[in-house]
Amino acid sequence: MVSVTVHQAGWVATMAGPVLKDGAVAVAAGRILAVGPAAEVGQRFPQAAMVEHGDGVLFPALVNAHCHLEFSALRGRIPPQNELGLWLEGVMAAMAGLSQDEIVQGIEQGLTELWQNGVCLVAETSNTGLSLPFLARSPLEFHYFHECLGFHLRQPGPLEIDFDVFRGGLARSLANFSAAAHAPYSVSEALFGRVAEWNRRYGRPSAVHLAESLEEVRFLRDGDGFFRLLLQKLGRWRTDYRAPGLTPAAYLDQLGFLRPDTLAAHGIWLNGEDLEILARRRTWVVLCPRSNLYTGAGFPNLPELRRAGVRLALGTDSLAGNRDFSLFQEMLLLHERFPDVPVAELLAMGTINGATALGRDKDFGSLTPGKKAAMLFIPFEAGGDFWEDLVRAGAAGNITWAAAPAKEA
Ligand SMILES: [Zn+2]
Repeated sequence: MVSVTVHQAGWVATMAGPVLKDGAVAVAAGRILAVGPAAEVGQRFPQAAMVEHGDGVLFPALVNAHCHLEFSALRGRIPPQNELGLWLEGVMAAMAGLSQDEIVQGIEQGLTELWQNGVCLVAETSNTGLSLPFLARSPLEFHYFHECLGFHLRQPGPLEIDFDVFRGGLARSLANFSAAAHAPYSVSEALFGRVAEWNRRYGRPSAVHLAESLEEVRFLRDGDGFFRLLLQKLGRWRTDYRAPGLTPAAYLDQLGFLRPDTLAAHGIWLNGEDLEILARRRTWVVLCPRSNLYTGAGFPNLPELRRAGVRLALGTDSLAGNRDFSLFQEMLLLHERFPDVPVAELLAMGTINGATALGRDKDFGSLTPGKKAAMLFIPFEAGGDFWEDLVRAGAAGNITWAAAPAKEA
């Protein structure tokens, strides 16, 4: 007989239906059995162990759809900038000065903080693979995007030729392992195709940084500016390069990179045509608003993204360009900037949308029977707007894990 636990609280916000007052969630063997009014659920499972959480809300654990754990050791080392290029140069210089031990300690600390912030599933982006074994050992579920860079790599052919990590069996055997393209200014047309091809071959989602800075728009239009100078400095510039003369989303669309399982981080500098393309391709845009302010990249135009019907998820990006891993703080900033956007949508971006973007909505993102019991309790006294109270309580750090499923091998 599997033992059942019934969690009760003043509210249950499942993110898959109306909010339940005096609700309950029945859990067995790490999965949700039932969700409903406390009296009903209690009657259905009279033998169950009862956990009364009190005033507050049971809420699905969060999904951070864009993160780089490897830069965690840089927290506080690079001051906020007003130009992305300056921040990027700061990161490159500071990373070069870190020992492997320091980087690893940062990764471990970062994982602890993701957990403390109520994250059950993280999309980690790395070009070294250092974080992978730590993710595998942590209680967090993850999707690992191995980021490929190579503006100079113009040859077609399998990804394995230039990136060792795809050569062994590991990348192929882990369903939560993908190739990713860093950004339109650091990846050649051919390499975009190779990344997309590898992911398609193994049925994995893709990721890219898209329209993060005005310099990226300028580079794709004119082939000059900060990124040209940077590529020259790094010895990656191609003297025969001709800029496509396209906007960021139009460029990636021409390369066939924008698909319903592509996660495009940032999406700040998009024009009307870009928005239309992203909506038509059903590509996910992962907003990282606090990072955008920190790095001087700009700020995403959430009302326009919504109006265009672009699918949206939420991330924190790295601690080199953010103060912490609080997704509730990301929601709060978006709410303060765009008070007309329904707050429940911001909460969906940080839960069910992120899980869907990563192809993990069968298990995560809402409190729904059959899904894993990844569930937070957030104490608050409802008084004003329910969703806003919830975001504010979460942003204040009042988060405990009500139930955490064991990771399946
Ligand atoms: Zn990033």
